[in-house]
Order: sequence, then structure tokens, then C-alpha cells
Amino acid sequence: MSKEIKMKIDQLCLELEQVVTPGMFTLNMEAAQISNKIAALQKQCKHNFVDGQCEFCYRMEGDNNE
Ligand SMILES: [Zn+2]
Repeated sequence: MSKEIKMKIDQLCLELEQVVTPGMFTLNMEAAQISNKIAALQKQCKHNFVDGQCEFCYRMEGDNNE
């Protein structure tokens, strides 16, 4: 389950890179939708924090912005 979440998030991160202009933060509709999908997956993740970051969903430890 956690590995599935990691695979999906890795894929979404690649998609996000492709819609966001490098070096410039542009929050377009597509980027927002992808970010929402990542956030939804992070809520399902049973986090396992390594060095302060979840190894599956990349959520930072202590980040309580639900
Ligand atoms: Zn996680």
C-alpha cells in the first residue's frame, strides 16, 4: 500500500515538473490539480519518517497542514 502511494506520488511529481516552468513558480490549474492529488495520497499514507521526511510520500515530519 505504501509502495503504491510512493509510485503514484513519484509519477505525479514528474507530471508536476512538466507543467511547472523550471526556476519559476507558476501555479496553473494543472499544477494545482496535481498538487491536490499528491495531498490526497499523503493523507492515505502511513508515514515512515527517515531524516525528517516520509520515505513514501515525501511529507515533512511535523508538517501539520492538513
Ligand atoms: Zn507518508
